[in-house]
Amino acid sequence: MSHYRQRTVIAEAPNGTLACPDGHLPVTPEAARTRATAIQPPAPLNYCAYRNRHSLPGSRGVAMTDPDRADAATADGPGRGERAEVVVIGGGMIGLSIAAHLAEDGRDTLLLERGELGSGASRATADVVRTYFGGDPAGSRLAVRSLASYRRRGVPLRQAGYLVLFTEDEQIEAFEAELAEQCDAGVRVELIDADEARRRNPLVHEPSLKAAAWSPDAYVSDTRRIVAAFERAARRAGARLRTGRPATGIDLPAGTVTTPDGDVTARTIVCAAGPWSSWIIDAAGVRAPLAEPAVQELLGTGPLPGVPDIPVTLHAASRLLIRKRGDGLLIGMGSPGPDRRQWLDQATAQLARTYPSVDLTGLHTAVTGPRDGSPDRTALFGRRPGATEFLYATGFSGHGLCQAPAAGELVRALFRGDDLSDFGVGADGLAASPASDPS
Ligand SMILES: Cc1cc2nc3c(=O)[nH]c(=O)nc-3n(C[C@H](O)[C@H](O)[C@H](O)COP(=O)(O)OP(=O)(O)OC[C@H]3O[C@@H](n4cnc5c(N)ncnc54)[C@H](O)[C@@H]3O)c2cc1C
Repeated sequence: MSHYRQRTVIAEAPNGTLACPDGHLPVTPEAARTRATAIQPPAPLNYCAYRNRHSLPGSRGVAMTDPDRADAATADGPGRGERAEVVVIGGGMIGLSIAAHLAEDGRDTLLLERGELGSGASRATADVVRTYFGGDPAGSRLAVRSLASYRRRGVPLRQAGYLVLFTEDEQIEAFEAELAEQCDAGVRVELIDADEARRRNPLVHEPSLKAAAWSPDAYVSDTRRIVAAFERAARRAGARLRTGRPATGIDLPAGTVTTPDGDVTARTIVCAAGPWSSWIIDAAGVRAPLAEPAVQELLGTGPLPGVPDIPVTLHAASRLLIRKRGDGLLIGMGSPGPDRRQWLDQATAQLARTYPSVDLTGLHTAVTGPRDGSPDRTALFGRRPGATEFLYATGFSGHGLCQAPAAGELVRALFRGDDLSDFGVGADGLAASPASDPS
């Protein structure tokens, strides 16, 4: 089995067990030889319906107004005893990108989505597409590939730029230490001084500001249109997209995925179930360090007359992220966790310190959504060969929109057995797991 944490590979050891260079538990082939293992229903997550257009994952939802989506709810009704070369579990942006790339490659591809397409984490984002991932040049490389793909596919991209505020010398040192690698990954990024940072974002009055990273390649997009674009591409290439059809078990030796509407048989099973992947990955006998799904929340300000056009701006130490949305601001700072009141107090205190001129009286919940994640906030890609091959792409940790096209390309490359060096993943080359991404 190969298990990629962007650049980290779990290589197959000579004795047949699987060695893991970054502290993950080794997996024996015996453990991986899974029989029909029931996948537990995912833990319910409470989050509000962003834009009010989607139902909760796992339920059949409101018909979409987009004609393609309306088609998705009806034309691909459940079938019985279906066969496909590849079955993809999960119809978010990652699963749809994978289905599109495999189908465009001529693979007979069937995707299972338990709710509506794009009804999971892909329903609620900040719509930010960027290429610079500090501390994670491999993630940046995927994002650079993805941006090129978005441009080719003509998805909306309004340039905003990305500013990362550094308040500590160590942050600047870390930036400089990996600058060459970021540039090699194709990222346009430079260090600018505090005055230049304040010029780029006049709302910044952070007293401890020392310098900033500036990357012009950050854009505000439209997540729904990206999901719809992948859906169209997948359908055009002949992929069968089954909605309202959950995978409830997998039997790898038999090559079957169980659903309430009958089994689907495939030579390759791909897990792209976002925050709900751990059940499926466990059922395939793979141990991947996926975090439990958490609810993430973005805040919005009320209207701020005269607010300037500002870049997407991250305060690296606190992870406070802001961008302009309409005539106000969209604000994120990680997940609220169990004590939302405390999180809110911390966020408003940091806002008052870094952006003292911003009126916070109209602060409200703007977006909530299920957050997929891995402990070091980098995506996990993996392949377990066998009579039925098992692939997975999950744990995008708040970066799925930035990396979805490349995720599809990478899974297609894994499927084909291509050389992965273009992705910053050496076939044998083991690289240290990237340092935690301050963004
Ligand atoms: C508040 C918020 C803001 C964000 N902002 C950004 C941003 O600005 N930029 C960015 O790049 N990323 C952002 N993200 C992250 C991004 O939304 C995710 O990384 C991305 O949506 C993950 O896509 P996915 O396809 O892996 O997961 P999902 O979209 O969750 O797709 C998984 C799908 O699998 C389905 N599924 C689950 N279990 C089963 C099963 N057993 N059978 C069949 N189907 C199943 C689910 O219903 C779901 O539709 C944000 C996330 C949140 C929460």
